[in-house]
Amino acid sequence: MDSPDEIVMPATRMHSTSDETTKLVDLVLEYSRRRILSDDTPLDKPLSELELARLAGRTIDEQGIGAAKALALFEHVLAPACITTDHPQYLSFIPTAPTKAATAFDLVVSASALYGGSWLEGAGAVYAENEVLSWLSREFGLPATAGGVFVQGGTLGNLSALVAAREHARLAVKQSGTDAPARWKVVCSAEAHSSIASAARVMDVEVVPVHPADDGMLRGADVRAALDEHGASVFAVVATAGSTNFGIVDDVASIAALKSEFDFWLHVDGAYGLAAMLSPLARHRFAGVEHADSVIVDPHKWLFAPFDACALIYRDPETGRRAHTQHAEYLDTLTETSEWSPSDYAAHLTRRARGLPFWFSLATYGGNAYREAISSSIQLAQDIAREIESRPRLSLVREPQLSVVVFEHEGWTRDDYAAWSSRLLDEQRAFVTPSSHAGRPNTRFAIINPKTTFEQLVGILDTM
Ligand SMILES: *Cc1c(COP(=O)(O)O)cnc(C)c1O
Repeated sequence: MDSPDEIVMPATRMHSTSDETTKLVDLVLEYSRRRILSDDTPLDKPLSELELARLAGRTIDEQGIGAAKALALFEHVLAPACITTDHPQYLSFIPTAPTKAATAFDLVVSASALYGGSWLEGAGAVYAENEVLSWLSREFGLPATAGGVFVQGGTLGNLSALVAAREHARLAVKQSGTDAPARWKVVCSAEAHSSIASAARVMDVEVVPVHPADDGMLRGADVRAALDEHGASVFAVVATAGSTNFGIVDDVASIAALKSEFDFWLHVDGAYGLAAMLSPLARHRFAGVEHADSVIVDPHKWLFAPFDACALIYRDPETGRRAHTQHAEYLDTLTETSEWSPSDYAAHLTRRARGLPFWFSLATYGGNAYREAISSSIQLAQDIAREIESRPRLSLVREPQLSVVVFEHEGWTRDDYAAWSSRLLDEQRAFVTPSSHAGRPNTRFAIINPKTTFEQLVGILDTM
């Protein structure tokens, strides 16, 4: 008979450094090493839930299936049912293209049990993240006192910035002894990202969408009309620095110039495009960003970091802290100090030190490598735009400014684009999805990966 000790699973089995856990760690690191260094991971594609249920089946039971089997299931069934978002021919939505250094260092962040919420617990990690935020602030022309935090994504970054903006407006109203407006409003382009409307719903404020000119750029004159009409109920204006659909940068300088006449918080949503401010090819498009009260940029988009990271930067970090610090008895030791605690600057508390993969990569390669990599995609977008123009049945919907190229095929319906798109994915040639503008169907190349080539894009055009 087995003694009870041998039957009962020891409580520490999963946490001990044993033969079992050593083998498991080796397996996982070996897989990660192969994946990070692989040059030919296929694009892959989703499977239906039914297919996955047939192939993967039930994966969880009381005894555990063991690391080898679980990892094999991931490698051969689950991972191939996920599109490879860092593939050079992934050209939909906004792709991702993490550097080798950033991806590898993500493992280190996971291995180190870092708590990124407070200086007390994670001073070293927070210091490094702040180095990155300061570097970005300098690039964006913000004052040396600017600061913020890495949050999960642009959606949460926009929300957190707008909450700080409204808090700022509320305080101003309180201090001046005037009445608060019946409803707070935020002005943005009608082509702004959907996360602005999402933030407004969460905050229960109203969005005032302003139609930009035909070229997609929102300008000060358009914003002025909205400010005239909605007056002091406008607490913030959002300028988009690189729209998601087109990569168009609003005329931030002319919008910022209105700050001398109207009292509003200027938030720059640069989740995708603000990275291009690092490139000499595009820097001029971002004049005025230096006047922003807050900005966001997603390192998991065009700054080559793995998911998920958004840099949220406040011109005056105290405005963010006032809006977001959580107070509780058990947190008093954290909140009653002057030390920099990232938790205080957004709608979150516990946080992964998610800025570190970007920090490690930036520290490793230096800023110039980033400028080169970003510039290469801007140049490629220009080159492929010229190629599209030269083809009789293709036309650009708008002239590209950054690295998104939107184009139409003469006479194609939404169904034509959809059929073409799924054929490209079925053949594992490319991931290019249908899109639309003003009710007209089109398609687009969103180029972020420096390994995407002109020849690859031409090859895709040839299939149309
Ligand atoms: C992607 C994007 C967002 C949202 O960012 P997430 O990280 O996906 O939440 C917001 N604004 C713009 C302009 C974007 O391109």
